[in-house]
Amino acid sequence: MGFERGFLDYERIEPAKAPVSERIKNFKEYYATLSDADAKIQAGRCMDCGTPFCMHKCPLHNIIPDFNDFACQGEFSKALNVLQSTSPFPELTGRLCPALCEEGCTLGIHRDPVGIKSIERKIAEYAFEHGLMHAEPSVHRTFKKVAIVGSGPAALACAQALGRRGHQVTVFEKNDRIGGLLRYGIPDFKLPKEILDRRLALMEAEGIIFRPGVLVGKKGDRDTGVFCNASEVISPEELKAKFDAVVLCPGSEVPRDLKIKGRELKGVYFALEFLIGQNLEMQGEGENPVDVRGKKVVVIGGGETASDCIGTAIRKGASEVTQLDYHDELPATVDIMEAWPDWKRIKRTSPSQEEGCTRLFSTNTTSFEGKDGALSAITTQKVKWGEGHHFEGIKGTEGRMDADVALIAMGYAHPSAHLAEEFGLKTTARGSLEAAYEGPEAFCTSDPKVFAAGDGRRGQSLVVWALAEGRLCAEAVDRFLCTVPHR
Ligand SMILES: Cc1cc2nc3c(=O)[nH]c(=O)nc-3n(C[C@H](O)[C@H](O)[C@H](O)COP(=O)(O)OP(=O)(O)OC[C@H]3O[C@@H](n4cnc5c(N)ncnc54)[C@H](O)[C@@H]3O)c2cc1C
Repeated sequence: MGFERGFLDYERIEPAKAPVSERIKNFKEYYATLSDADAKIQAGRCMDCGTPFCMHKCPLHNIIPDFNDFACQGEFSKALNVLQSTSPFPELTGRLCPALCEEGCTLGIHRDPVGIKSIERKIAEYAFEHGLMHAEPSVHRTFKKVAIVGSGPAALACAQALGRRGHQVTVFEKNDRIGGLLRYGIPDFKLPKEILDRRLALMEAEGIIFRPGVLVGKKGDRDTGVFCNASEVISPEELKAKFDAVVLCPGSEVPRDLKIKGRELKGVYFALEFLIGQNLEMQGEGENPVDVRGKKVVVIGGGETASDCIGTAIRKGASEVTQLDYHDELPATVDIMEAWPDWKRIKRTSPSQEEGCTRLFSTNTTSFEGKDGALSAITTQKVKWGEGHHFEGIKGTEGRMDADVALIAMGYAHPSAHLAEEFGLKTTARGSLEAAYEGPEAFCTSDPKVFAAGDGRRGQSLVVWALAEGRLCAEAVDRFLCTVPHR
C-alpha cells in the first residue's frame, strides 16, 4: 500500500483534458497522460483492500492494488511487469476502457474512486517513452500454425498470447489495414492511430504475420459488414487445410437498422459509414463521403458509437447535432450502497456530448421525411417503457425536426452470417458464433478445430472484453494444439 493515509489526504486527480473550444478544431487526442508526480499521488490513494473488487470487476482481472503500489513508489517498470501479466495492451484500455474497475473501487463508496484507468495509461506510456515496452518473441518454436480471422482487439490479444507460446500465427483481415474497430470505428480523438501502429510493430517483431486485404469466405461475400476493401479471398477449407487451428474474431459487424418510412432517402446512413469514412480520410484516403458540413445532423442511438458520431460531426462543422435516444433519461445519482460494486445506472455525459449536442430521451424516431429524394426532416414520438424491453408511443407527443443527415447508431446484431455458414458452424439465437466462455470446451465452436472470441462470440461489447476473450481463447487453442501431431 503506497501512502497509508493517501485515500484520506488526497483527492482524485483527473487527467488534463483540452478545453472544448480547442479540441473541436481538430481530431487530436484530448486527454493527456498524468505526470509522474500526479500518477504517484493518484496510485497512493489505493487502499490495497483485502478483497479488491476493482480486480474482480476488471474483465482482465488486472492486479490493480499491486501496480498501484509500485506506481506510487515511482517504480513504473515494476508496475509495468504486474500490469502486463494480465493486460496485453494497457495503452489501449488506458484510453478506451469505461473503467469497470473504478466502479468497483472501495474508495468510491464514500469518496471519488482511484483513477485506475489514468494510472494504467501512465504506466504504459512511461514504458514506451523509456524503452521498457519490448517485443517479447518466444524463445522456442512449436511449429504449430494458427490462423486468426479478423484483426480487432480480440484477434490481436489472441495472436500475441499464441505467438508468445511459440506458435506461428497469421492474422487475416479483410480490410487493407489491421486493427478492426480500433482502426476504422473509433475516432482519432479517442485513439490516435500511431498508438495502434506502435503496438502492431512490436507484434510484427514478435513474429506475428499480418495479412490485411484478405477476406476469409467466398468471392461475392464482399458486401457483408459495413465496409470491406479486400483484394484477395481465402476459403475456409483452404484455411483449415493449411493451419492446425483457426480462430474466428470477426466482430459483430451487422448493424441494427431502423426500417421505417423514408429509410432509403439520401442522407440516412449507418453510423459506421460516417465513422469509417472519417478514419479513411484521416489516413489520407479521400474525403469522408458523408458530408455534414453546415448541416443539421441527428444521431439515433445512445451508446459509444453515437457519441463518436457526435464528436466527429462537430469537428466536421455540422451546424447542429441532436441525439435521439429512446431510453429514459437516467438519474444523476443512485444510492451507492445499492449499486456498488456494479456499473452505476446514472446519466453520463461523454466528452463528445459535452462538445455541444442536444440530447432528447424517451424519444423514438418514427419516420424520415424527404424532399427530392434527400432527407429533410425526422418525425418522433415520446415513449413509455413497460415490462421487459417493451415501449409504447405516447399519443399526442409526436414531434418533427428538420434534419439533413441522420446517423443510425443503434448497435450491432451479430457477425456476418456468411462466415458461420461457410465454416458450417452453429450460431446462437442472436446469430453470434456459438462457443462456451468457460469449461473444457471454452471458445471452441461446433468444429473442434475452429475457435471463436470477441464480439463475434459474445455480441457487441467492449475492447476490454475482447482482450480478455482473446487471451482466454489463446489458452484454449494452446491446449488443443498440444493434442495435434506435428505435420
Ligand atoms: C464506433 C465505435 C466506438 C467504440 N468505442 C469503444 C470504446 O471507446 N471503448 C470500448 O471499450 N469499446 C468501444 N467500442 C466497442 C469495441 O470497439 C468492440 O467491442 C471491439 O472492437 C470488439 O473487438 P473484436 O476484436 O471482437 O472485433 P472488431 O474490432 O469488430 O474486429 C473484427 C475484425 O474482423 C474483420 N473481419 C470480419 N469478418 C472477416 C472475414 N470474413 N475475413 C477477414 N476479416 C474479417 C473485420 O473487418 C474487423 O476488422 C466501440 C465500437 C464502435 C463501433
